[in-house]
Amino acid sequence: MLRALLLAPPGAGKGTQGERLSEHYGVPHLATGDALRRHVAEGSEIGAQAGAYMERGELVPDRLVLELVLHLLSEPEPLEGFILDGFPRTLNQAKTAFQWGKANGRTFHAVISLDVPEDELVRRLLERGAAQGRIDDSDDTIRNRLRVYDEFTEPLLDFYRERGILVEVDGEGPVEDVGARLRAQVDRLYPGSDASA
Ligand code: AMP
Repeated sequence: MLRALLLAPPGAGKGTQGERLSEHYGVPHLATGDALRRHVAEGSEIGAQAGAYMERGELVPDRLVLELVLHLLSEPEPLEGFILDGFPRTLNQAKTAFQWGKANGRTFHAVISLDVPEDELVRRLLERGAAQGRIDDSDDTIRNRLRVYDEFTEPLLDFYRERGILVEVDGEGPVEDVGARLRAQVDRLYPGSDASA
């Protein structure tokens, strides 16, 4: 089963494409942002600590995110396939994820990056903020999230490029077209990728 990560700036379409990949390959879509928002809404211990970082558009500390993700991936037993969306976002998270994969015989097949110009990202995020009322889709917070992406997350592309599992896809244009480009690239890296197999 496919194990893939989606690594792209906010507004690039991770959520939309993550859902589509999940359906196509028949594996769960795990989005750390969604999981964190659920924790905040439920008022859990993790949520209580994470909420303030999220509102400011900053990264939630690794300690909390890793607790959450390792639980999602490992309970009740290590997941065989998944699309992880929005994780890892720091080198420390990437290294821990890599160790988890090795230790559990579940290294990742593909890391997908979606390229979208910054102007277009800002436009999409402002539109989503107006439509969905996400508190972190406001002007200042958007700028901060893009800056945080450039500083902490973008360097991970090299980490995965060196491992030969990075696929870079043009994320502009109709959702269907981006999805088709993406699947074509994933299919090259993931041998068992015939969804009917
Ligand atoms: P997203 O929905 O992926 O844009 O995530 C929304 C917010 O959740 C981010 O701006 C961060 O504050 C937090 N978040 C999500 N995933 C992570 C992660 N892997 N590491 C740190 N913070 C995260």
